[in-house]
Order: sequence, then C-alpha cells, then structure tokens
Amino acid sequence: MATKNAVVTGANQGIGLEIVRLIAQQPGTRAVLTARSEERGRAALAKLQSELPPAAAERVSFAQLDITSQDSIASFRQWAEKELRQVDVLINNAGFAYKGDTWGVEEAQTTINTNYVGTASVCEALEGLVPDGGRIINVCSSAGKLGIIKDAGLRARWERASSRAELDELTHEFVEAVRSNNYAQKGWPRSMYGVSKLAECQYSRILAQELRPRRIAVAAVCPGWCNTAMASFRGPRPASEGADTPVWLAFQPDSDWERWTGKFWKDRKEEPF
Ligand code: NDP
Repeated sequence: MATKNAVVTGANQGIGLEIVRLIAQQPGTRAVLTARSEERGRAALAKLQSELPPAAAERVSFAQLDITSQDSIASFRQWAEKELRQVDVLINNAGFAYKGDTWGVEEAQTTINTNYVGTASVCEALEGLVPDGGRIINVCSSAGKLGIIKDAGLRARWERASSRAELDELTHEFVEAVRSNNYAQKGWPRSMYGVSKLAECQYSRILAQELRPRRIAVAAVCPGWCNTAMASFRGPRPASEGADTPVWLAFQPDSDWERWTGKFWKDRKEEPF
C-alpha cells in the first residue's frame, strides 16, 4: 500500500500538534508538521519525536509554512511537490484569535487574513497536489456557525454564497462596517473571530462542491473548546480530544466520502452549518 502523505498547518502546538501525533501513529502514513516559525516548528518536532515510539517518530517531518505569506505558501508548494509528490490529506488547522475584548479594523483584517484568507490560499495552492480521492479538513469552529448572523437577509447571503469572490465581498463588508462603526446596524455580530470562522466554514462548503468531480472530500470541523493557548488554557478538553474528529474524518474509508463531504462535523457527528 502506498504511503499517505498528510500535511498539517499550525502544528507546533495545541490541536495541530496532537493531529500530527495521531497521524504518526498510523502505519503507512507520513505526517508533515508545518509551522510559521522554523524555530518553534523544529522544537515541536524534536519533542514529539522523543515521545513517540521509534517507528512513529520516523513518520514525521517538518516544513515551514506561514499561511498568511504568499512567498511561504509558494515555497512550501515547491517543497511538497519535490519531496512528497502528492498531498493525500491536507488538514488546515492554523488559526488565530485576539485575546479578550480586542476590537478594531486592523485586528478584524488580521483575523480574517489568517483564518479565512490564509486557509483558502493554502487550499488553492495545494489543490493541484491533492490526488483524486484525497481529503481536505478545515479546523473551523462552532463560533463560525451561520447562527451568529442574526439579520436574516445577511445570513441568507452567507448561506447562498457559492464562490470565494462572494465570501471575499462579505468579509470586506464586515471590515468596512467595523471601520464605520455601524456593524451592529448592518447586522454583524461583535466577533472578528466568529466572522473569520464563518467565512472559513462557508469556504469549506463551497470548496467541497468545486472538488466533487475529483472525489476530493472537504469537511469543516469544530474541535470543541480545548485546553490550548488560543483558549488561554481554560478549555475543558485536552487538545488530543480536539484532534480526534479531524483525523477520524481524514482516514475514513474511500467508499464513504460522499457521506461526509461538504458538511460540518463535531465529535464524529454531522451538525448543521
Ligand atoms: P493554538 O493557539 O494553540 O494554535 C494555533 C496554531 O496556529 C499555532 O501553531 C500557531 O502558530 C498557528 N498559526 C497562527 N497563525 C499562523 C500562520 N499565519 N501561519 C501558520 N500557522 C499559524 O490554538 P488551537 O490549537 O486551539 O487552535 C487550532 C485550531 O482550532 C484553530 O484553527 C482554532 O481556531 C480552532 N479552534 C480551537 C478551539 C479551542 O477551544 N482551542 C475551539 C474551536 C476551534 P504560532 O505558535 O506561531 O502562533
């Protein structure tokens, strides 16, 4: 059986690191731990390899990937094409949230650029390396469900969106509403993270539709509230539990892909978007 290559973004800590740990324990895989910081990524790799049994440790390697840098994405693609040839499983886990009550135009843009634009850019750059029948799993969040938009008209636009361009327009409108400080009148919630994750969730739905002809399954997953840096280590779940559903989906039998593509998953169960 051919080795399955899995690439995980934002994997130097938290849920991403646990995703890599789970994949490495499966024979017949090669897991690429990617991180935006070479130093943090290599340190995480060394620690993980020291904790894994030798056979599993050999299945993990490191590559630099900053999902907000087009140069970094292009270099990673070149590296992956040469070293892996194909990316059977792509797990977009990298994410960012400001702490506390932080609010502002630049902050909204940064959050959207990482969680939505960054994830979409990685998908678009690596799509050509994902073989027919491959998998793309986006670690989204229940905080990005359609229900966060209380205005029915605005919510319907998100629900109907069928292209990346429409999502770009919606996220742009949000940033402009933050700038004009009329976001509440325009129907937006006061959550930069929520809107960025909403865009990531809806992008997963749209990408699944686009990649259907190639039988590439795409899913949005909520890992649950986990005990990681993003959650200020207050989440009740260990990061390893958050890693469970993304990995479970990524290694579902090939015959099952239509059952789960284009859907939102949490705790191994489908939920509405
Ligand atoms: P962490 O903050 O522990 O990890 C986030 C990871 O993303 C870090 O490795 C971070 O790298 C990386 N990252 C941030 N920006 C970039 C970038 N531009 N390029 C590459 N990597 C980047 O958080 P979690 O493990 O909790 O989060 C993982 C995912 O799970 C996120 O997408 C998050 O939104 C989602 N999630 C988490 C929940 C929770 O309760 N923890 C709940 C719901 C969803 P660095 O160390 O360099 O900052």
